[in-house]
Amino acid sequence: MKKAEQAHLHKIKSLPCVVCGHPPPSAAHHCLTGMGRKKNHFKVIPLCWSHHQGINGIHTIGKRLWQSMYCTEAELLEHNEIHSHPHLRSVRTQTH
Ligand SMILES: [Zn+2]
Ligand SMILES: [Zn+2]
Repeated sequence: MKKAEQAHLHKIKSLPCVVCGHPPPSAAHHCLTGMGRKKNHFKVIPLCWSHHQGINGIHTIGKRLWQSMYCTEAELLEHNEIHSHPHLRSVRTQTH
């Protein structure tokens, strides 16, 4: 893993859960890792234990059900990117 990837993962783990806002440390969940797709260490979202591997976890109930209960990974990823990069947020508000 590259240094930049490690730094990004570290940053994600220090953010609250994107679903419920549970305080960090969070687990860095890799999104959009379909069959045969390589893990992208920048496509990660912070999730608390219960939304990651706990009773309501994406790895417990399955991605499909989980996404229908909460949000799709793509939406959460976008949401997270806006919040973790303030410059993106300002770009967003200007276009609206
Ligand atoms: Zn959570
Ligand atoms: Zn995960």
